[in-house]
Amino acid sequence: MPIHVLSDAVVSRIAAGEVVERPASVVKEMIENALDAAASEIKIECLEGGRRMIRITDNGHGIRSSEIELAFAHHATSKLQSADDLDTIKTLGFRGEALASIASVSVVSCASRHVDDPVGSLIRVDGGVTVEQDQIGRPQGTTMTVEHLFGRIPARLKFLKSNQTERGHLDGVVMRYAMAYPQVRFALTQDGRSVIQTSGNGSLRDVLIEVTGSLDVQKMAAIEQPESAESNHSPRIRVNGFVGLPELTHNSRSKVAIFVNGRPVQDVRLATAVVQAYHTLLMVGRYPVAVVMVQVPSDEVDVNVHPAKSEVRFTDANAVFGAIQRAVRNTLLTHSPVTEAPSSIFDVENRIPTPAIGGSTAFAIQLAADQTPLSGSHSWERVGIQRNAVPGAQFAVPDRSDVSRSGLGPATLTPAPQPGAPIPHPGTHLPALRLLGQLALTYIIAEGPEGLYLIDQHAAHERVLFERVMAQVDLGTVVSQPLLDPVPVEVPPDSARVLDDQLPTLRDLGFDMDRFGGNTFLVRSVPSVMMQDDVAGSIREIVADIESSETPLRKDMEARVLRRVCKRMAIKAGRVLALAEMQALVRDLEACESPRTCPHGRPTMIQISSSALEKQFGRMG
Ligand code: ADP
Ligand code: MG
Repeated sequence: MPIHVLSDAVVSRIAAGEVVERPASVVKEMIENALDAAASEIKIECLEGGRRMIRITDNGHGIRSSEIELAFAHHATSKLQSADDLDTIKTLGFRGEALASIASVSVVSCASRHVDDPVGSLIRVDGGVTVEQDQIGRPQGTTMTVEHLFGRIPARLKFLKSNQTERGHLDGVVMRYAMAYPQVRFALTQDGRSVIQTSGNGSLRDVLIEVTGSLDVQKMAAIEQPESAESNHSPRIRVNGFVGLPELTHNSRSKVAIFVNGRPVQDVRLATAVVQAYHTLLMVGRYPVAVVMVQVPSDEVDVNVHPAKSEVRFTDANAVFGAIQRAVRNTLLTHSPVTEAPSSIFDVENRIPTPAIGGSTAFAIQLAADQTPLSGSHSWERVGIQRNAVPGAQFAVPDRSDVSRSGLGPATLTPAPQPGAPIPHPGTHLPALRLLGQLALTYIIAEGPEGLYLIDQHAAHERVLFERVMAQVDLGTVVSQPLLDPVPVEVPPDSARVLDDQLPTLRDLGFDMDRFGGNTFLVRSVPSVMMQDDVAGSIREIVADIESSETPLRKDMEARVLRRVCKRMAIKAGRVLALAEMQALVRDLEACESPRTCPHGRPTMIQISSSALEKQFGRMG
């Protein structure tokens, strides 16, 4: 294909992908427009999770008849004049892209009357083209109706989840804006049923009672920001909102809502600031419930980071982090006084220069016999094997009387007596590990005879899946799973040739597929380890892997393909894992041939040796 400039229609569809991911994104953009128009009442009606219809009605200042068509043009906005304005943006919108993007992937009807206009107007835009425009009588404000979202983009439609899931996303968006704007009356109905109805009386507490229930709100406290040094003028960064007291917890971070200057944001770092403020107050695996509103001078925050505007960047991120952490901690301490425990584990982590894979341990941990090991009695045997297999390793024999004499509880540390003795090598196999919990939704924390293990859940799962399928390949027993409907996958012509060559190898790996005509392949079955939600995406990645492979060796090719499959299938960072899931994963990892690296060679775990811990706590010498 010669180089050419894409048509406007294609460009806007591509751009729409960045703004409009699902029905909830439409509602988000429309609510922001209503808030920017100073609405005091916003009504949202959705049918079938927003697939069939989304209607947002506001009583804001409305759109002038003379401008209504322009509102749907790309980069058309009433909120920004010059590039300099970007630095001090106070409105939620400023890109002038939302209406254009939404209208390019749906049918939008907009009825509006501007506060200064005697009559209202109506416009209907179908796939970006104006198909109707008229004058109408109506009250001040705007009603936007979006139908047939992604109607002409089957790939996008397929990406949407069940109505129930989409309804959940819609609830979430409306809930967050209702919290951020307690002075605005929000009403959400889904399929005719009222889901959220706030009073608009300005009280965040009342909004919380509406959206989370009064029982939970009784266990929450209003955030009290500690007196700052510069207390005679108001602090630069202000934090308010509500935090759950330690008895109100959740099994994930999803109930930590953060807002920056009235904008709900997704920011792992800021959520971490909140979670860390609960340090030592919550049980392992439990997360706080919190609604945290941060006010930052508008020239110190950049909201123009991502088209969906849900990410922000700060001039001084550490200051914001600190302000949130102090405010939340201060509130918690006033409401439930506790003694502060020094937290140095993060320093320990930072000071360990390299992952201690194959590293040294000068101490052996003595495990008490009554400490239930992770995988039942057989793991004791495995510790035993390890003990015998490593010459010179100093493992104390578990002995109850010893433990009770030491008075130090179940795990005590004893220094290895002979300084010249060979240092026990952790080996490739893992000892039995005892599960302690999950950290940052990304790492599994476990303890073993050689200290503390932080296991990357994604990398570890990749390793486990990879060894499992590789074993099947070696035995010629790959389990293949037929797809309910064969999936056509179109690839570029070059890739089609590459794929043709590799079809026999792929077949041995469980991919039953054939050239279907043109550059399209029809995939009939896939390896059973592979989930079937995005077969086309996986195939395209696999082709890219094969193309970038330097050696044409079959074994190498197989490993490449399977590494890709496993990478896609492995649980992601950020997922909450149930205790049983973590236990199963750790046990599977223990059984791996090469548990310490993922199939791509990155570490699956960081080990902090007992001696490093000893040193950090000043217990040595
Ligand atoms: P942006 O919000 O970034 O300016 P949009 O595409 O969302 O871009 O909207 C384009 C313009 O249409 C806005 O700048 C505003 O002038 C007008 N507009 C959209 N929705 C409304 C509304 N509900 N009430 C009043 N004006 C609106
Ligand atoms: Mg907007």
